[in-house]
Amino acid sequence: MSTRELSHTELVFQLASLSRSRAGEQARGCVNPIRLTGSSTTIHAATGEVVRSYSSDDEPDGHTYVRCGNRRAAVCPSCSREYKGDAWHLLSCGLAGGKTVPETVAQHPATFATFTAPSFGAVHRHTRPLNGRTAPCRARRDKPRCPHGRPLSCVRRHDADDPQVGQPLCFQCYDYTAHAAWQWWAPQLWRYFTMALRRRLARTAGLTLRAFAEAAKVSYTRVVEFQARGVVHFHVVIRLDGPDGPATPPGLGLTVGDLEDAVRHAATHAHKDVPLPGGQTLRLRWGRQLDLRTITPGAGRDNQAGPAHPHQVAAYLAKYLTKSTEDFGLPVAGKLYSAGHAAKHGATPHAVRLIKAAQQLVPIHDDYTRLKDRYATLGYRGHPITKSRAYSVTFGALRSARRHWRQRRAQLPANADVRDVLDVDQADDSAAATTVVVGSWRYAGRGYLDTATAANATRSANLARIRRAEEASQA
Ligand SMILES: [Zn+2]
Ligand SMILES: [Zn+2]
Ligand SMILES: [Zn+2]
Repeated sequence: MSTRELSHTELVFQLASLSRSRAGEQARGCVNPIRLTGSSTTIHAATGEVVRSYSSDDEPDGHTYVRCGNRRAAVCPSCSREYKGDAWHLLSCGLAGGKTVPETVAQHPATFATFTAPSFGAVHRHTRPLNGRTAPCRARRDKPRCPHGRPLSCVRRHDADDPQVGQPLCFQCYDYTAHAAWQWWAPQLWRYFTMALRRRLARTAGLTLRAFAEAAKVSYTRVVEFQARGVVHFHVVIRLDGPDGPATPPGLGLTVGDLEDAVRHAATHAHKDVPLPGGQTLRLRWGRQLDLRTITPGAGRDNQAGPAHPHQVAAYLAKYLTKSTEDFGLPVAGKLYSAGHAAKHGATPHAVRLIKAAQQLVPIHDDYTRLKDRYATLGYRGHPITKSRAYSVTFGALRSARRHWRQRRAQLPANADVRDVLDVDQADDSAAATTVVVGSWRYAGRGYLDTATAANATRSANLARIRRAEEASQA
């Protein structure tokens, strides 16, 4: 059979699949990449020589695709996986040394602490299976009932992903107001804890607070986990460093035992009184359960309790980072305006009641005004991860290291130049110091183009290329 002309439909399809595969290659499997148009030129700083130049005009559909970079697995599995890997490296370096952190840091007293919220009412629960069997939820021989006539016992054996888990046994008994207030103030309670911890450590060392600060620094890395009941827990690495951070040992002879005693003391004593509706106050405290695990390179990597290996701790923290409030039926992006809005979006009844309680806090005191911007995170206002400055390398440094590693490979990836332009946390290494990137980029949209649009875009990009070539030959 001789060659035949492609039909219009076939041509459109081929053009579209060409630009699609190119876009996918650029964004490396990101489900919702950012489309950009523009160009950038890398210039040698001393000589002015153009090292390389790149333009979205050179792409089949005239767009450059950049990964969304979202950390949440529910939003983009691919970017979340990359984020999780970066987070693991960052946290591992902070704990065991690596990159710019010396390995001696692993010898500093360090503990992995989990700070819980108090109880606001009984909820259905999943217990970790023992001998292959999950324990009953809340077995009670006397089968008590609450004042509303609902049973306060439950003999079901809930799986971890049972939607009942975290739901109150009686929503009328559950203290939604206290829950909403606690969640809003949790970052403040954390601050009180850190102040109490420093005071306690100074006292243990027999020093004034000022003398203590000259000899040691307490460093934290704190990651938030949303429990099934919709309240946050903090998973925190707490470490004693020297006055200049992880590079120097703490000069006080304090042991990890001293550190853990001080953490327990400070966690028990930290509190704050906050206003509730009707002129009442709530005394904020941590939950009674405070889990502490000494971090040591000598620990087994699979220990379920007791001392924990730095790499295991890094893996726990990285895992919590890729999850947020998606299990409550809340939108993963965009603002949430009210409990009614959440209900329309398909949020669980528990989440809706919690947001309603948060709404009722907003008008009672100025301190709650900004709570209305935080319904999508069930009133939590902190960051998913916070770390004290001296803790470790940064995400920016890791991104930059990965980019330069890619650039050093034989074939320069298509998106290398774009990342140079977009990555604001450029590391000051030799490559960045000797070259200057000049570029201008415009946001063109989100996501991959559908078949017809991709085909049209590819066709007009081709026409533009032909026109440019003709203009160049005439000039
Ligand atoms: Zn993505
Ligand atoms: Zn139950
Ligand atoms: Zn009740």
